[in-house]
Amino acid sequence: MAEIGQMKSKGSTDYKCPICKDTGRVFFDKDGYSYVDDCECGLLKKQAMARRLKFADIPESFKEMTLDTFKTDIYQDERSERIIQTNVKAVNYWLDHFDEMKKRGQGLYFYSYTKGSGKTRLATSIANELMTKRDVTVKFTTSIQLIDEIKATWDKDYEVTEHQLLLDLSKTEVLIIDDFGIEEAKAWLMERFYQVINNRYIANLITIFTSNIGLENLKYDDRITNRIKERSLTLAFPEESIRDQIYKKNMAELAAAIA
Ligand SMILES: [Zn+2]
Repeated sequence: MAEIGQMKSKGSTDYKCPICKDTGRVFFDKDGYSYVDDCECGLLKKQAMARRLKFADIPESFKEMTLDTFKTDIYQDERSERIIQTNVKAVNYWLDHFDEMKKRGQGLYFYSYTKGSGKTRLATSIANELMTKRDVTVKFTTSIQLIDEIKATWDKDYEVTEHQLLLDLSKTEVLIIDDFGIEEAKAWLMERFYQVINNRYIANLITIFTSNIGLENLKYDDRITNRIKERSLTLAFPEESIRDQIYKKNMAELAAAIA
């Protein structure tokens, strides 16, 4: 195996991977032709993963969330527990059929009128699953962040133009919009939301929404809600906040650990 293009002067023992000398690529000759391939150490894949995770912008407290660790027994009300178990099943079904969902651009709409019912936790669990196990690019944003960023582009000195931002949001493989529907339905905002949602609709791209408002009661332009309806599996979440339960559980764990 002839290696070319290795310009570093490090001794081979300084490299984590002596095969590719930490470039992630191996070069070889076969039948008189030169080839390049990914090194078996998987450095390029790891780098791509790191870029995906950074790009995704998942909030720190949700970065470790996975479906395997998603707690369904933390709800006090038995009915809540049944609802969340059904939702986790539905999400697993959706993930198991991801290729098909992707072809159809079939996304998800999580809602409950109660805050802290586990919607964002489940949505970020899906994001982590897609990024780490399926090499999917995911972007997480909240409605508020999105609006702030759109407004920021109106400043001429901002790093990206509004056109570019809306284009990026329109093209991201999977987009998660957390806390959707809390904003006033101002005309300029509806125009931007419609542009992104319609572009994603046309391109069959998956969008996942979490909201404190059911789709039927969303006060947005019909053009927007109709597009979402057509491309979302809606899941109602328990009308119970688990934030207090998580807090109590964390405190109990701490107390047990230092006892
Ligand atoms: Zn290597």
